[in-house]
Amino acid sequence: MADLKEVQRWAAELMAKYLDESWSFTFDRAKTRAGKCNFDKRQVSLSMYLAAKHSDEQVKQTLLHEIAHAKVGPKAGHGPIWQSYAAQIGYTGGRTHTASVADEFAKYVGICPNGHEIYRFRRPGTKPVSCAKCSKRFDQRYLIRWYERQPVD
Ligand SMILES: [Zn+2]
Ligand SMILES: [Zn+2]
Repeated sequence: MADLKEVQRWAAELMAKYLDESWSFTFDRAKTRAGKCNFDKRQVSLSMYLAAKHSDEQVKQTLLHEIAHAKVGPKAGHGPIWQSYAAQIGYTGGRTHTASVADEFAKYVGICPNGHEIYRFRRPGTKPVSCAKCSKRFDQRYLIRWYERQPVD
């Protein structure tokens, strides 16, 4: 659980390091996304609810995610230019450290009973899938359970 005053301090430090003075920071009241980069207002904002709920590390990662948007501009989206800059400033991407930056934007995550994660950009079919890390052949014991994710801004 991050302390909001501290979050504000990290934001100021990181933004001074990577962005010019035209950018400012604020908290917003979003409940479904952790952060936002507003190019018109030149403002990076974090959800105060999620910032308070997330770990320090998660909050810093969200800040780096948004700072990278601010730096590379709206056209880059979450494409390779954004990904490479984000990685350069220390963004590791996603909630888990096993996911690559690109995997973070996969809409579907599957988890096997042993905790291996796989990522899909398209809705998984109805056919059961078992974990390839646990067993090379289909194995009922290692069925993947699928989850749909909240979009990331
Ligand atoms: Zn597995
Ligand atoms: Zn983003």
